[in-house]
Amino acid sequence: RPVVAIVGRPNVGKSTLFNRIAGKRIAIVEDKPGVTRDRIYAEGEWLNKYFTLIDTGGIEPESKDIILSQMRRQAEIAIETADVILFLVDGIQGLTPTDREVAEMLRKSKNEVVLVCNKIDYNALNESIYEFYELGLGEPIPISASQGLGIGDLLDVVVEKFPSEKDTEY
Ligand code: GDP
Repeated sequence: RPVVAIVGRPNVGKSTLFNRIAGKRIAIVEDKPGVTRDRIYAEGEWLNKYFTLIDTGGIEPESKDIILSQMRRQAEIAIETADVILFLVDGIQGLTPTDREVAEMLRKSKNEVVLVCNKIDYNALNESIYEFYELGLGEPIPISASQGLGIGDLLDVVVEKFPSEKDTEY
């Protein structure tokens, strides 16, 4: 089953988007007693296509790493495991140096990447979305994770990028 991973800076809206897309939670119980990771993994479905959804922001929640090294780690995990990476950026805050750094890693990878601009509910005009073109990851898809805007259009793009049926049968 295809794997879709969400990557992005803290507070960009990863877990809001995860909860918006997630159906059934996949409870993975860790070695540590009582620790489940159902905050991170879920089953997603769109147009009868099923996938595994990962919120990389939920990995290592107690890490004291600086944001950039956390982001590098998120991106590495996504590059290793995901068929499609959703790179989430913040339409209110705009483009940051960390976004550029992660974008470079993702551009060098062979993964399918979808650039997603969250929080478009905030500015009616949303001219801020255009600056994200310079990340070199194609057209940013505008969404509001908290308002549930643009999610269907996003998922249309995501399922398009899945490997062909023949490769994903199991
Ligand atoms: P994460 O750290 O990337 O997982 O981000 P969260 O999902 O925890 O969201 C961070 C903050 O952004 C929360 O206060 C959310 O309510 C807010 N947020 C998430 N999505 C949107 C959105 O589409 N529009 C606005 N205005 N705020 C949002």
